[in-house]
Amino acid sequence: MGTIFSQIIDGDIPARIVYENETTIAFLDANPLAPGHTLVIPKEEYERLNDVPDDVATDLYATVHRLVPEVEASVDADASTVAFNNGEAAGQEVPHVHCHIVPRFEGDGGGPIHAVAGDAPDLSDDELDDIAEEIDSRV
Ligand code: 5GP
Repeated sequence: MGTIFSQIIDGDIPARIVYENETTIAFLDANPLAPGHTLVIPKEEYERLNDVPDDVATDLYATVHRLVPEVEASVDADASTVAFNNGEAAGQEVPHVHCHIVPRFEGDGGGPIHAVAGDAPDLSDDELDDIAEEIDSRV
């Protein structure tokens, strides 16, 4: 048995599906942080972004890109926060990769994405150079 999201894809549990194509599906979050809070997922089950193959990643982003303006417009939002909790340590609870589209409104009391991490580290220029080189060497 797959995750709760695979059960939604299979029609075994209900969801308010707002968009579907061959490889991706989007539905309203059952516990919305704002009106219109939408989740976009690949139909194939991958736990994290890190596990998603290139072609699925392309499809996933295309669906996010298509939905963001329509979700915002549907609830008359001023903006949106678009994010993945990518892994348990980042707060991911459902182990089926999903993108949150959270509509945002002027004065809604929420914070920017900068508010989600812990205390900001104090990194030296050398440390920043090393990190940048390490990432660059891997991609
Ligand atoms: P995560 O913390 O894994 O990034 O977010 C999982 C999200 O899935 C949560 O926002 C939660 O409200 C939503 N969710 C969990 N179970 C269900 C469900 O059965 N149906 C729908 N539509 N959303 C769900």
